[in-house]
Amino acid sequence: MPLLFQSTNNRSPAVNLREAFLRGQAPDRGLYFPEKFPLLASGEIAEFARLQYHEIAFRVLSKFTDGIIPSDVLAAICRDAYNFDIPLEKVYDRVVVMRLDQGPTASFKDFAARMMARLMGRFLHEDGKHLTILTATSGDTGAAVAHAFHNVPGIRVIVLFPIDEVSLSQRKLMTTLTGNVRTVAVAGKFDDCQAMVKQAFADPALKHIPLSSANSINIGRLLPQSVYYFYAASRLAKPGEPVVFSVPSGNFGDMMGCVVAKQMGLPVKKIIASVNDNDAFPKFLASGHYEKISPSRNSVSNAMNVGHPSNLARLVAVYGGQMDETGKINRMPDLAAMRRDLFSGSISDQRTRETIREVWNKYQLLLEAHGAVAWAGFTDWLKTEPLNDLPAVILETANPAKFPEEIEQTIGFAPDVPPAMTAAIQLSEDFDRMGADYEKFRAYLIKQHAAT
Ligand SMILES: *Cc1c(COP(=O)(O)O)cnc(C)c1O
Repeated sequence: MPLLFQSTNNRSPAVNLREAFLRGQAPDRGLYFPEKFPLLASGEIAEFARLQYHEIAFRVLSKFTDGIIPSDVLAAICRDAYNFDIPLEKVYDRVVVMRLDQGPTASFKDFAARMMARLMGRFLHEDGKHLTILTATSGDTGAAVAHAFHNVPGIRVIVLFPIDEVSLSQRKLMTTLTGNVRTVAVAGKFDDCQAMVKQAFADPALKHIPLSSANSINIGRLLPQSVYYFYAASRLAKPGEPVVFSVPSGNFGDMMGCVVAKQMGLPVKKIIASVNDNDAFPKFLASGHYEKISPSRNSVSNAMNVGHPSNLARLVAVYGGQMDETGKINRMPDLAAMRRDLFSGSISDQRTRETIREVWNKYQLLLEAHGAVAWAGFTDWLKTEPLNDLPAVILETANPAKFPEEIEQTIGFAPDVPPAMTAAIQLSEDFDRMGADYEKFRAYLIKQHAAT
């Protein structure tokens, strides 16, 4: 009997992974979540020490895909998706930076997007169906999704991005792909792109075009993000020894991956959810009062400019509460338990830049803004509790080379560019342009669809 997933709003039926995955959002606008978490025995977790990353991914994810995907297929998908390094750089004592920036688009979003593309490709192939994936991006998601779904049969990808809000290297990682990937530069803001995508999903005139969003609320993006916590612990901790993790957080999908790992049995001492000026969560944890931030605040860690993190609905559910999609709390979670397991602080842009400088000067370790927020959050937590010589892992979620101007202004030199990015930067671009005009976008989608 496959594991079932229920909606955080509790008003639509529980479904299996395949359905949760293909739907994205539950019909009652809630987020899908396992009815109960599969457990890994301490002996199974101890074995991870001698396994490679893709093998750990297989052991963890098969607990969710049992009865849905044959094991040999899942094992092959994991091997194919996770063929890049995950460096664990020692900083001091047992404090380590885990770089999740070695995938093809140099951000941690590659981990989820690559698994999701392979699973979705398989499900569509089984059904003989076609799908158009529509995504609005402020930079990292669009690149990761476009690369992951590039050349997957049965899938067309259309990425909308705000022409003036993405860096050149972020843009080139999307616009140099051809074939089934189309990128559209919108003369507007990220919010305009997102509004156009949302309108397309709700548009009866587009009912004949099967659309999906691959966005961050899909359970298929969350589960693969639990694997690197197991991996880090397998390399750094003695069997049974708890680990501290600090996670730079925007929509809270990455830190929920850590919560999932903990629920499955990974010993975790503390999960530090570090945010930028969008501080709705640390305020909630401190006061029990949740107020989303609207519009979201801009900051240097731009992939974390989220005023109402949608994954909080899942976090609240884990702690026995209920939060609806608007952020209204209908049942309070167990705040005392949340405070025992989690720590959360807000880091200003000024502190983010100071942290990049300090960590560079003290340890010759280069962080970019997102990783620096996680580092600063970790140092704040250290003032509240002793580490007691346990392992601590700070997640770096993007490669500094994605933000060369910012890094150069902060520490005086530009970061090295990884080979995958150098290659993309040399390719020629091909993208469409559009005003922030929904009627034009609808006509565009109809024309693209007819062209198949
Ligand atoms: C998306 C992103 C984040 C935030 O991750 P969430 O899962 O949304 O909390 C952090 N850093 C980088 C570089 C990102 O692209």
